[in-house]
Formats: sequence, C-alpha cells, structure tokens
Amino acid sequence: MARPLIADIDLDALRHNYLLARSLAPDSQAVAVLKADAYGHGLVACARALAGLAPAFAVACLEEAEVLREAGITAPVVLLEGIFEASELERVEALGLWMAVHSDWQVEALLAYRPARPIPVWLKVDSGMHRLGFAPERAEAAWQRLAAAPGHACDLHLMSHFATADLVDRHYLERQMGRLASLAERLGAPLCLANSPATLACPEAHGAWNRPGVMLYGSDPLEAANAASRRLLPVMTLRSAIIAVRDLPAGEPVGYGGRWTTPRPSRIGVVAAGYGDGYDRHAVDGTPVLVAGRRTAIAGKVSMDMLTVDLTDIPEADIGSEVVLWGRAAGGEVLSVDEVARHCDTISYTLLTGVLPRVPRRYHGHS
Ligand SMILES: *Cc1c(COP(=O)(O)O)cnc(C)c1O
Repeated sequence: MARPLIADIDLDALRHNYLLARSLAPDSQAVAVLKADAYGHGLVACARALAGLAPAFAVACLEEAEVLREAGITAPVVLLEGIFEASELERVEALGLWMAVHSDWQVEALLAYRPARPIPVWLKVDSGMHRLGFAPERAEAAWQRLAAAPGHACDLHLMSHFATADLVDRHYLERQMGRLASLAERLGAPLCLANSPATLACPEAHGAWNRPGVMLYGSDPLEAANAASRRLLPVMTLRSAIIAVRDLPAGEPVGYGGRWTTPRPSRIGVVAAGYGDGYDRHAVDGTPVLVAGRRTAIAGKVSMDMLTVDLTDIPEADIGSEVVLWGRAAGGEVLSVDEVARHCDTISYTLLTGVLPRVPRRYHGHS
C-alpha cells in the first residue's frame, strides 16, 4: 500500500467559488488570483479549470506567468508586484502580460522601454497598507506620466490593497477608501481594490475589477462569516489514513516531549501526515481532525511524518480508516481549513500554501 497522504483538489468547488465571487459583484470583473501555485492547489490545473470563466489571472511574478503561458493559458495575466528588474519587460511584452506599477523606478523602466504593443498597467496606490504603491498625493503624477506615453500603458487602472477588509470594524477600510475616492474621481480611473474579504463583505469596494484569492479555494477570510462566505466550498481535502493503533492506560505520555498525556485509558491512532508534509507543527492538542467522518483531535506533538489522534470515542476507527486533516470526508462531513488554522495560531493561507511537494495532488471534477 502506498503512503495514504494525498491532497484531493475539487475543481468543481473552485469553479463554484469563482462563480460566487462573480455573482457577489455583478458589475465587476474578477481576476482569479493564482499566485503561490494557486495557494498550493496547483497553478496550471486551477487555471485550466477557470479558463472558461475568469477573464484574467493574477500571479506574483514573471516566473509564475511563464508557467501559465507554457501550459497554453492565453488569458491576460497580471503581475501583482510588477517587474523586479527592468530586463523583465521584454518577457512581459512577449507574453502579453499586464503589470502593477508601484514604484518610480518601474515607471522609469516602462517609459524607457519601447514596446511594440502596449503593456496594460495597474498603478498601485498605497492607501494605507503601507507596503507597495505610490502615496495618494504622488500617484497622480505617475499616472499622468504613464498616460502621456502612448503605447506604453494604455488601459491604465488604479489598484490598491486593503489591510483590514476581513475585520468587522470598518474604520480603517473606510479610511483607505476615503484616500482613494478623490484621486479616482479626478483621474476617472477604473478601480481594482477588492481582495477576498472585500469581495465577500464590502460591496462599496467593488470596482471595475476585483481580486479574489483565498476565497476561490474555499477559505472564509472574514472575522465574522456572512451569508455569502458560508456558501464557499472547500477545494482541498488533505486526506490520509490511520496506519497504527495503540491502547494505552491512563497517565501515558504520547509523542515527543510527552506534551499530551492520556487522561483515561485511551485508544491512540497514528496518522500518516506530519510537518514534513506541511502539516503545521504548531497544532495544539485539541486541533480537530475527522476520522471515519467523525470529529476528534490531535493528541501529542506533530512529528515529521506522523501525528497522533485520540480514537477513544471512535471505536469503529481502525487501521486504514480515513483521516481528513482539513476538507471534506468521504461521507460529506467538512472540517474547514480556517478552523484548523486557528488551532495552529496561523491563517488558512499558510496551511494551504504550505502543503509540500511530496504530498501528491489528485484532481477531481472539471479538468
Ligand atoms: C494575494 C493578493 C490578493 C488576494 O488576496 P486574498 O486575501 O487571498 O483574496 C489580492 N491582491 C493582491 C495585491 C494580492 O497580493
């Protein structure tokens, strides 16, 4: 028997989530964010599954865009951080990419470059994230320079990114929106602002384009779930099996350091999955898992190739029983990656992008 750990990817769920993003913002177009290997789900497979639906894709860098082009994806691909050096512009043009421009040196590089065909530009404004982009009072000058350079940057858009769109408290989001409003009005610029949480919960931030990312993969980024986010379907199921079972008396420590001790006579299941697969070693005792479709919990520290779970209350579980670390069990029960992340003091993004290459991906549905 092969090692049972596998990441099942449900491409129909991906399409469902994309269509949800689109239906929430009927006056916007949604660029599907596929950076970081589609948040660990497989860049090319996800792009192919969305190819008929999404009018454009977004990635972090030229290398990711090249993978899409080599796979025959012809839709526009936006480089969310633009170029990292001027020499990349040749490839950007040759591959027909769009690019964010967030810094003066990128403006200079673009103006110095003489493309045979225009390179569409999303000018990035720092409205309060304070990471990338032009300060609002400097964005207009950059915009005018690009707008005055025919052939370089037709199809100019204004882009900005929210720091707190996931929070119930709208105070800072409104401050960011306020900093953009007059600039956008003066420039008559099409806007691209909304990430997943803003797509789900802030219709006032929907622009010509939205940029849903993590929601496409079924994770709910909102601090407080809403009616829309409850309709998201998990795309990845990280699935394994019980490979050994032990019966222990009360008072026995389990795993490295003896972090967890059996509080009663206990049945412990050993699962083929560990931090060497990307399962987070920060998972505390009590982190939920599904065994044979029933909820139980991690008991003891996660090891490199294995972890241990409490089977005492699941007598039907035995060697070979299905274990779902997150996602959907064979019987339909769902364990959300967001819930697991909370037990690991992290967010779904790190768990999903952290599934390591040694875990085989198996694709289902549209392909
Ligand atoms: C990653 C990213 C997104 C998508 O964010 P989610 O929270 O995953 O929806 C949108 N815009 C930019 C600039 C990004 O880097």
